[in-house]
Amino acid sequence: MIKDEMVWDLSQLVESTDLASIQKKLESMIAEAEKIRDTYHGKIESLGAKGLLELLEMKDAYTLKFEGVIMYCRLMYSADSTNDVAKQLNDAARKASMRADQALAFIDIELGKLLAENPLLVTDAVLSEYKHYLERILRRVPHMLSETEERLIIAKDKNGISAWEMLQNDWLSTRTFDIEIEGQKKTLQYGEMVGLYQSPDRDLRKRANQVVYEGLGKDDIVWASAIRAVCEDHVQMCEMRKYPTPMTQSLIANDVDQQIVDSLVNTIKKNVGLYQRYLRLKAKLMGLNKLANYDAVAPLPNAPKMGYAWREVRKHVVDAYVEFDKETGGWVDEMFERRHIDGEVRKGKASGAFCSSWLAGKSAYVLQSFNGKMGDVYTQAHELGHAVHAYLGSRAQKPSNYEIGSCIAETGSVFGELLLTERLLSEAKTKEEKQAILATVLDEFGMAAFQVSARVFFEQSMYDAIKRGEFLDGEAVAKLWVAARDMIYGDSVDWLGVMKWEWTMKVHYYIPNYRFYNYPYVFAQLFVFALYRLYKEQGQSFVPKLKSLLAAGSSKSPRELATELGFDITEEAFWEKGMTQANEFIDMLEKTLD
Ligand SMILES: [Zn+2]
Repeated sequence: MIKDEMVWDLSQLVESTDLASIQKKLESMIAEAEKIRDTYHGKIESLGAKGLLELLEMKDAYTLKFEGVIMYCRLMYSADSTNDVAKQLNDAARKASMRADQALAFIDIELGKLLAENPLLVTDAVLSEYKHYLERILRRVPHMLSETEERLIIAKDKNGISAWEMLQNDWLSTRTFDIEIEGQKKTLQYGEMVGLYQSPDRDLRKRANQVVYEGLGKDDIVWASAIRAVCEDHVQMCEMRKYPTPMTQSLIANDVDQQIVDSLVNTIKKNVGLYQRYLRLKAKLMGLNKLANYDAVAPLPNAPKMGYAWREVRKHVVDAYVEFDKETGGWVDEMFERRHIDGEVRKGKASGAFCSSWLAGKSAYVLQSFNGKMGDVYTQAHELGHAVHAYLGSRAQKPSNYEIGSCIAETGSVFGELLLTERLLSEAKTKEEKQAILATVLDEFGMAAFQVSARVFFEQSMYDAIKRGEFLDGEAVAKLWVAARDMIYGDSVDWLGVMKWEWTMKVHYYIPNYRFYNYPYVFAQLFVFALYRLYKEQGQSFVPKLKSLLAAGSSKSPRELATELGFDITEEAFWEKGMTQANEFIDMLEKTLD
């Protein structure tokens, strides 16, 4: 019985689960996309406000109409990639989506041209619901090149920066490492070695780090060539596309501006002492004089081995949300009740966890592998926070206004984790339990807000070095990384010498057109801590404010969303609220030592 409860019911996504009917629906998805193309291709540039509204509404209706069938195929595959039917359907859905996307690709291009010529359309009253959607397109327009140039870039990237990315990926995933575990010599892949970093055995953690980074450092010529090519290419593209700084492309993609990122980064710089205080406290909890780099996110040695049952967790998580708001808690409960969560551990299931918004159904689906550990409880609260975001957003917005950028996307989820923390702390019976809960929250906060900030400094310093005409070989890049890292950690952590090669394995640095992927994580973490602080200060009157923020989806920029809460996120005072909250958690942890 309990087993069924932990398996999701995907049949709600489609009218019929009959294979032929699903195939037919996918075919009509392509046919309808082609019909839209036949109607509008070459004609968008001459549309007026009313005509444009019709097009956008039709596009949104189209998205909603076929969302369910695509989700059905994809989710079925993520639940069990060894299932032959799932394989077949996932492939069919992928092909159908690709063909539909190809057919509709002209819309964005023609829309860009239309807005470039008639920028006033953006503020036309008829299009008010799509205002911010159009603003975002308009912001990209000055950086678009001619069709021939864009095609040329795609062609040269394929064997240019995309090939470097692939080399980094393939090289990393095919490295093997020799290590002794419990007296046995083993040869492990990179992914398996990473699992050892969280081992309760300190010596094993140390050796795992040593072996991995010593190995990676030997190939510095490969990593340096790849990272240099990707960064230098970006500098050239910025020139061609008239981006004033290397960060501009990312600012546009994340719907923020330089002022916001500056105030965020300055707040981090001013508060490195807070993070270092936590790291020193953690050393004490671990019985060490100082943390080594392989201890920073390791579990506490005396953490109680708590096991949670599915129903007990459901109660914890639902109650945590109910405590915040009855309606929100009701939706979280509905996720369990309607079996929209797949928690069962099975072979062939996708690793990690995710939440897929189901806008047409005004709900969501969550996947995780539930093993009953505290981390699994947090994952569940996190993913259900995404679901709450979807419940609110799908009720208030059209799909075009629910394309949520990375800065805001984690608001519901991380907020949910803090609600869970409150609940778990209130029920914790021992000092060790409290310490384990607080360390979980603070480890995550420290990584997302501070460790990731080191990566922001590092990336910026690479572009500065390129601008100065410096040649970035492996040692030069390593020097930049160590300098950025030390800005955050000071002398609070001892680093193995080989940790200078930490930048070599970070896939994100090598992904073309994904520059400055990092500060949105810092933004998201500190944003939610600040919001949680406001909730603590304002109590129930804050609840509708957070709900309307989530309900706004992408219909407003992060700056506007904060303004509605009465805050200016270009000012450090807002971000300091997040630090105040973190400081309070650190105080609570410190008190457990008395
Ligand atoms: Zn998330």
